Amino acid sequence: MSLTIPAGDKISYYLSLEEKYGAHNYHPLPVVLDRGKGVFVWDVGGNRYYDFLSGYSAVNQGHCHPRLVQAITEQAQRLTLTSRAFHSSLLGEYEQFITRYFGYDKVLPMNTGVEAVETALKLCRKWAYQVKGIPANKAKIIVCANNFHGRTLSVISFSTDPVSTSGFGPYTPGFDIIPYNDAAALELALEDKNVAGFLVEPVQGEAGVEVPDEGYLLAARKLCTQHNVLLIADEIQTGLCRTGKMLCCDHENVRPDILILGKALSGGMLPVSAVLADNGIMLTLKPGEHGSTYGGNPLACKIAIEALTILKEEKMAENAEKMGILLRDGLQNIRSPHIAFIRGKGLLNAIVIKHADANAAWKLCVELKEKGLLAKPTHGDKIRLAPPLIITEEQVGECLEIIDTGLEALH
Ligand code: PLP
Repeated sequence: MSLTIPAGDKISYYLSLEEKYGAHNYHPLPVVLDRGKGVFVWDVGGNRYYDFLSGYSAVNQGHCHPRLVQAITEQAQRLTLTSRAFHSSLLGEYEQFITRYFGYDKVLPMNTGVEAVETALKLCRKWAYQVKGIPANKAKIIVCANNFHGRTLSVISFSTDPVSTSGFGPYTPGFDIIPYNDAAALELALEDKNVAGFLVEPVQGEAGVEVPDEGYLLAARKLCTQHNVLLIADEIQTGLCRTGKMLCCDHENVRPDILILGKALSGGMLPVSAVLADNGIMLTLKPGEHGSTYGGNPLACKIAIEALTILKEEKMAENAEKMGILLRDGLQNIRSPHIAFIRGKGLLNAIVIKHADANAAWKLCVELKEKGLLAKPTHGDKIRLAPPLIITEEQVGECLEIIDTGLEALH
């Protein structure tokens, strides 16, 4: 179809199709992508862009990584789905691989990130009743203000973002919200004997890359241990080398009781998520109590093993750490009245824009797009800068120039 459309009309053609036939639940930049390789994506007109969103950190390994393309192609021709009604020759191998990789007894495979979050919450409640001995239906899970854990009804029930919650009530009870990066507030909340878990993002990505103070996660770990409460780390966005370590919790040598992974677990190939925990927690779930048709399918298992292997073999944590420093230093050196803050960890970074025009961050992203770099504002004035973790020093230099000239064009 696209071959018959004049190049200049292609973008409006594709935009009009989405506008007419798709639900209006997103507000994308007006760019229509058609191809990706490494740190780059190309639009339908053949224009090349640096991808500074990386599918919200799903494409840490870079677009269409050749080893992932090979893994998906080979496995797609062999066996893709059995459902969990039967065993498969890949599930056990994957379970052994990922549990050894992260040092947990067991894994529960799911698909999207939010499903893994829901799984962790259910697991935490089961543990609360069966092991901790909290009275039936009284278990509470502590969460943080400005969290983002996904879009299901239970997960939005503890969102503090009115855009996520308005018009979707009634909400699931059993969650208490405390401020982020506030160990004293956590300590106070944990005085309640019915608290079963503390769900936290090691860096709040969607909130605009809110990096907590050094020592916060460690303090949370100690408090949870003291109060016999499960520390549940949502590393869906921060994990898998994004922040310069395999897990963001590794920066403080913190081991969560329940670890939630997603996104880059498949390097952008298909939705693959996972919940990891030790036997004392995971074995509280019995057959029939939880599951998913696609969870742990052979295609996902094959890809996840390869995606995790690539992260280590290609030293992506090390590169994220190094390139992150380079990127933040370069951004700090840009003399622009429109930069309020630069913040981040590894290659999960944000510029907070200061401008009289409330739409300035969006306008800057449009400007950056014109100059060959794709990024997207989050919560109005923040622009996340999160390229694939294979970006090179030279490419970071080129991107800094694009951002510098983009900011100059912002009057
Ligand atoms: N948790 C965090 C920290 C996330 O960043 C996201 C997605 O952005 C999710 C959960 C939800 O993942 P998914 O969109 O795959 O359901």
